[in-house]
Amino acid sequence: MIHPRLRLAPEVVTPAMIDGSLVADGNVDRLGRRIDYMRISITDRCNLRCVYCMPEDGVRLSPKDELLSFEEIWRVAAAAYTLGFTKFRVTGGEPLVVKNVLAFLQGLRRVTGEATLCLTTNGILLGEYIDDLRDIGIAKINISLDTLDPVRFKKLARRDGLAQVLAAIERAAFAGFERVKVNAVIVPGVNEDDLLPLTQLAERLPIDVRFIEQMPLDGEVDGGFMGADEMLARIGAVYPLSRSEPDDKRQAAQLMYRSSKLRGRIGVIAPRSKKFCASCNRLRLTPNGELKGCLLSEGTLDLRGALRAGVDDDGLNTLLRYAIGIKPAEYKDERYGLDRSMSAIGG
Ligand code: SAM
Ligand code: SF4
Repeated sequence: MIHPRLRLAPEVVTPAMIDGSLVADGNVDRLGRRIDYMRISITDRCNLRCVYCMPEDGVRLSPKDELLSFEEIWRVAAAAYTLGFTKFRVTGGEPLVVKNVLAFLQGLRRVTGEATLCLTTNGILLGEYIDDLRDIGIAKINISLDTLDPVRFKKLARRDGLAQVLAAIERAAFAGFERVKVNAVIVPGVNEDDLLPLTQLAERLPIDVRFIEQMPLDGEVDGGFMGADEMLARIGAVYPLSRSEPDDKRQAAQLMYRSSKLRGRIGVIAPRSKKFCASCNRLRLTPNGELKGCLLSEGTLDLRGALRAGVDDDGLNTLLRYAIGIKPAEYKDERYGLDRSMSAIGG
């Protein structure tokens, strides 16, 4: 159930306006899902223009004063940590284009205690940050890469950069992170023949390679999505696969597999053919301070408004529990395409 106040554009909701019956008791929602993973998008800016993510001329960027400041994000993260969140992923847009991103991450590390910190990046600037990211305490890095063909890379990302990304993946693989993953969106007829070359990365390097079904957001590419079963059948024909436990047993978004021929694992993320809403444990914070229970949520909470109206720590805690209380049971297919691009929400 979506609170009527949240049906349309986000508006400032103060704790006093909230229907108390919708506020979760702690971080468990009404379906019994423990919500303990926050994806924080720190910018809507990006140095690539991936075809499935945004239009060629980019997306409408928020003016700077509409973006949360580092201090505002730290306050939200600290409140989430106190509430029981154990994992934070920093994403974007491209997080590594943010000025002083290392200072931001150091601050995030300070306010999130023992939580696991993760980063998702397109890898273009990763090379210059690898050692600092490890030293700050980023445990897991996801690097997005959809092809090993330079011409296709330029077509898909609308920019050059394959060599930098590959060099960064090679270095990150041996830099001492807990986990390095390469994520590829596979679009039939576009890069389906990259399935095996990308899998070979996990043969050569101790990294996981995961294949993602394309979601039809703003930039959807013609070709639809390749279902997880089809991807696994094609890979399995060359690398016999057996199921592997995910790092976090409750994290059903990814199905992971091992092969005796591979150093790393293979995974599929199948939001369309194998909907995983029933075990979803995420909240998303957008760069302009909307708190969303789902990538495709109708309702969002305007945390920026609340923060700038002077909400205190108890109030912030209540707002987070409210967001958990109204987290949708599942996404509705008809919401596809209605929202903004992945870069603006935070992938
Ligand atoms: N710029 C960073 C990157 O590319 O890794 C972080 C943000 S990006 C929005 C996060 C992830 O969302 C990427 O792995 C990207 O491939 C994925 N993504 C973007 N648009 C998508 C779509 N329409 N369907 C599926 N995944 C998408
Ligand atoms: Fe940028 Fe990542 Fe979107 Fe590509 S997927 S345009 S790198 S935000």
